[in-house]
Amino acid sequence: MKRLMMVAVALMMAAGVVAQTTSRTKIVAHRGYWTVDGSAQNSLTSFAKADEVGCFGSEIDVWYTKDHKLVVNHDRVFQGLHMERATAKELTALKLANGENLPSLDAYLRLVQSKPNTRLIYEAKSLSDFSSEDDAAALAVKMLRKYGLLERTDFICFSINYCLAFKKLLPEANIYYLNGDLPPKSIKKLGFTGIDYSAKVLRVHPEWVKEAHDLGLEVNVWTANTEEDIRYFVGLGVDYITTDYPELAQKIAAE
Ligand code: MG
Repeated sequence: MKRLMMVAVALMMAAGVVAQTTSRTKIVAHRGYWTVDGSAQNSLTSFAKADEVGCFGSEIDVWYTKDHKLVVNHDRVFQGLHMERATAKELTALKLANGENLPSLDAYLRLVQSKPNTRLIYEAKSLSDFSSEDDAAALAVKMLRKYGLLERTDFICFSINYCLAFKKLLPEANIYYLNGDLPPKSIKKLGFTGIDYSAKVLRVHPEWVKEAHDLGLEVNVWTANTEEDIRYFVGLGVDYITTDYPELAQKIAAE
């Protein structure tokens, strides 16, 4: 009986530890962990580095090319090529700052599959028309399913249409809206998981963090890069901080 009690106490303590860990602000590497030697924004290396330091997630930006393929890059126009008006072959021939080629989504997902501890934060970059967004969302889901990554991917978009396209395809997925122009109650009505707003927006509307939580929504903030900003948002109780300096943010969140 005494032993049973001890086991029960140990279990309760363990549960307490788990609750404490999960309530801590989680850190997402913005465009991967690229502010270290040998890395570059949205490179395969940047995901590997984010995984290496134990980030909760690593973010990528994804475009839909002229020939209906998905590639990973931030800028709409990169080294003179427009993401939506060039082919995947042309775009993946471009070199990133660390010497890697601009990755296809396929190559990226193969790497993500091999790093099971880090979530993929998939930013679907707004496209020039809604039907392209619908097609690109369907292709993304098909590819994520092929690599067994649907459970380990969260979606973020500036475009409400894109968010809705993912929601329709994956009703259970985590989908966050980026544009910062809607209060939490509107996001709740749209059925998304939460808000993923800029530091600038949340500095103006700090009350949105509590409002979101009261509605059962989550809050992510981008891009908190200074110690002051990171401390402010950890203090405000956001669920996730997206940053170019994940190790600094991890240190502050752990205090
Ligand atoms: Mg992004």
